[in-house]
This record gives sequence, structure tokens and C-alpha cells, in this order.
Amino acid sequence: MNKIEHIGIAVSDITKATELYEQLLNVESYKSEAVESEGVNTVFFKVGESKIELLEATREDSPIAKYIEKRGEGIHHIAYDVTDIRVEMERLKNAGFRLLNEEPKRGADNKLVCFLHPKSANGVLVELCQEIRE
Ligand code: ZN
Repeated sequence: MNKIEHIGIAVSDITKATELYEQLLNVESYKSEAVESEGVNTVFFKVGESKIELLEATREDSPIAKYIEKRGEGIHHIAYDVTDIRVEMERLKNAGFRLLNEEPKRGADNKLVCFLHPKSANGVLVELCQEIRE
């Protein structure tokens, strides 16, 4: 794991949350992107070497909608930057971690991603992400 790439925060109104985070961090968001496959809108902020990702559900069956319904707004996941996602997935699988996807998926912000089940990591949803280099 190279660094904490970003922290994902589930929000119910991304427009309001973006304004709030612009004030909080005193920086403008650098990217907003919809990820259709996950049913989310995302907005990203740079904070030094790391980022904050705001996540808003775009439909009722989105994982973010379910999360907010159960637990309310808040920290949704921690994402770690990795150099080779397939190598890390293999390593963690062999170490007994439960992967939520067997193949890397295309995530927001030009990344290949894989999630680990929160039960594997003390109740925290973990995202591995690797920059797509093309
Ligand atoms: Zn994320």
C-alpha cells in the first residue's frame, strides 16, 4: 500500500456537501464524475497527497443509498493506492480477506478498484485503487 489515496464520504445532497467541503478545506473540488455502474455521483477534493471523495446515490438500489439508510451520512470507505491491484488482490485473498469483486472494476477518477468486505477489516470498507496507466 503506497498511501491513503482517498477517504470516501457518503452524503445525501452532494451539491450542499460540495459547498460545505469547499469551505471546510478552503479549496475547490477538482472533479465531479458519475459512476453509472455503482449508481453514484462523486466529487473529489485534493488534500495534500490524499483526496476526499464525496458520494451521493443516484438510485435507490445504490450501495450509497443503502448505506445512508442504515447508518446515515458519514465515512463510507478508505481507499489505499496500490502499484499493481491484481498482485494486492491475490496477496489479500491468500491472507484470508474477503474481496467483494474478483476482477478489478473501473472506478471514478481514472482508477481500477477492488473492495474488501468490511467484516474482513474491523468494520471498515476498504478500497484498493490503482491509477490506470494507458
Ligand atoms: Zn473511493
